[in-house]
Amino acid sequence: MGLRYRLWLVLSAVVLVPLVVAGVVIVRTVSAERDARVAATGDVTARAVGSSLQLECQRLGALSAQLAAEAQLRPAGRGVDAAVARARTGEVSYAAVVTAAGEVHDGGVRRPADPRTVRSCEVHLDAPLLVGVTPVDEVGRAVVVASVDGAWLQQALRDVDSTATVTVLADGRPVASSLGAGAPRRVDGEVVTSRAVEPGSRLVVAVAQPAPGERGLVLATLLALLVAGALVAALVRLAITLLVKPLLDLTEASERVVAGDLDATLPTASDDEVGRLGRSLSLMTAEMRQYLGQLQRSRDELRDNLERLGDALGSTHDLDGLVQVVLESAVAAVEAKAGVAYVAESAGALTLVAAQGIEDLDAPVARRLLPGHGVLGRVASGGAPVRGRLGTSPGEITPGPDDPAGCEVLAVPLRGGGRVTGVLVLLDHLDGSGFGPAEEEEIRGLASQAGIAVDNVLLHRETERLAITDPLTGLWNFRYLSMSLAREIERATRFDRSLAVLMLDIDRFKAINDTHGHATGDAVLREFAARVGEKTRDVDVLARYGGEEFVLVLPETLLDGAVQLGERVREAIRELPFPGPEGGPGIPVTVSIGIAAFPEHGGSPATLLRSADAALYAAKRAGRDRVVVGAGSVAGWDPS
Ligand code: GH3
Ligand code: MG
Ligand code: MG
Repeated sequence: MGLRYRLWLVLSAVVLVPLVVAGVVIVRTVSAERDARVAATGDVTARAVGSSLQLECQRLGALSAQLAAEAQLRPAGRGVDAAVARARTGEVSYAAVVTAAGEVHDGGVRRPADPRTVRSCEVHLDAPLLVGVTPVDEVGRAVVVASVDGAWLQQALRDVDSTATVTVLADGRPVASSLGAGAPRRVDGEVVTSRAVEPGSRLVVAVAQPAPGERGLVLATLLALLVAGALVAALVRLAITLLVKPLLDLTEASERVVAGDLDATLPTASDDEVGRLGRSLSLMTAEMRQYLGQLQRSRDELRDNLERLGDALGSTHDLDGLVQVVLESAVAAVEAKAGVAYVAESAGALTLVAAQGIEDLDAPVARRLLPGHGVLGRVASGGAPVRGRLGTSPGEITPGPDDPAGCEVLAVPLRGGGRVTGVLVLLDHLDGSGFGPAEEEEIRGLASQAGIAVDNVLLHRETERLAITDPLTGLWNFRYLSMSLAREIERATRFDRSLAVLMLDIDRFKAINDTHGHATGDAVLREFAARVGEKTRDVDVLARYGGEEFVLVLPETLLDGAVQLGERVREAIRELPFPGPEGGPGIPVTVSIGIAAFPEHGGSPATLLRSADAALYAAKRAGRDRVVVGAGSVAGWDPS
């Protein structure tokens, strides 16, 4: 049931119930008062009728005295006749003279049962009669009777101008009624008043008057109640509108807010409780709007990050880009001040591939991570994440020499292909606190994805590397040599630079194989590659050309420089015997080298290589262990 209907019920009950009770009380009180008034009128009537009765008694007394006097004056018979004659006139209904001897001389229509014993002012119940008696000396008594009947009572009532029904009771029995003969009727709705004619009298006058009708009063009260009810209804309606309307408005607006409409207008104007509630709610919705806005922004940010992360994880070629995005996502996810990411690009140390915010850190961050060394190194080797503050105070993690001491650290390994491919390190929380388990969990989730992606990139790189390197010596293979030689020639051509190519061939290598076995031959090839590699610069390209033949491309190098390097290489090979089979003596090895320079000995990879090969061939022919420059010019040895 709604508030409006409950209020209707309560307010109506509060007002209407007392109204109805008041109506009933008013009807009762008014009708009781009217009854009392009627009863008072009845009492007056009863008194009047009583007085009439007394007067009639007195009249009858006087008449009987008159009769007695007449009876004394005249002989008995004549006195009686006179009396009877008088009775006939209607003045009385009966008259009698009782002699001393007890003879009764009478006349009239209403004879009392025994005129000798009737008493004065006696009402005879059978008749009813009113008797007047006067004793007569020596004669007896004179009796006069008048009939107290309905006609008499009606006359008495007319005298007092009353419309009531009057009944005369003697000893409690009705003897006469203004309604006429027979038992007086009692009618419902009458007000009956009774009164003794005089104190102690046997006669009682009962006056019955019609009770005043209550219908009019009830109708009037009902009408008043109806009007009052209508008024109450109007007032209740007004009160409900005043009370409930703001509440309904508030409820409606709140429901709209709940349904998601945060711009719904709440009633805030009034100073009452509803207004206060409205203001609180609208404050709440404003905060919610702001909060939702922030949420939306961070969701957009998160989506952007996820998109970038997804792109980065999907593109398997750009290791640096991938790790940078992973690091940025991790830093944003846990609100770190700074972060670094190390990747195991090759066996051994992990290298710093991405960094963010480390300029603002007090502690320096190592460029390389040695597995097993220090806190971060242990993450790289053990694979277990580390979370806490690095420092020497109790409860802190003791840092290694290369670890960033005095920092909050969350370090998580990147795993892929069953190994640790890198380490993600987050440093110091933005709000100054440490990193919690929830943040560790988040970064672990990110790292598990990123680790696989990094492993994919590393695998891809490895595959690429294998495609252009020689598996035995680790040098570039012929494929790579061809590409890089073409590139270097192009660059040298464009920028008018010099370039030299050395072709190296181990002397009598077949004999080494034959004497010490193929495995030792392989070892010699590896040692040879290492010794030549030591003499070269980073920009030089050393490749295995095939079998025991190698090519060294020297960018930005003139022929002289190339010859000097050739000599140094030749020396490095021949000066120290190569390690032989386990426990055996060393193997002396020499090398022949042919050199061709760009552009003098060739303008293309093919012509340059051919020139170098020709020079090498010349060196072999000249006795091996020597350096020969293209087109026949031989350094260190003159073939002529
Ligand atoms: P020269 O001084 O004329 O160059 O004589 P050589 O014996 O070095 O030249 P030759 O071309 O006759 O022999 C090359 C040998 O190198 C033949 C081949 O079995 C051997 N060889 C080629 N590739 C490998 C390899 O990968 N491992 C080993 N152990 N031997 C190889
Ligand atoms: Mg050889
Ligand atoms: Mg050869």
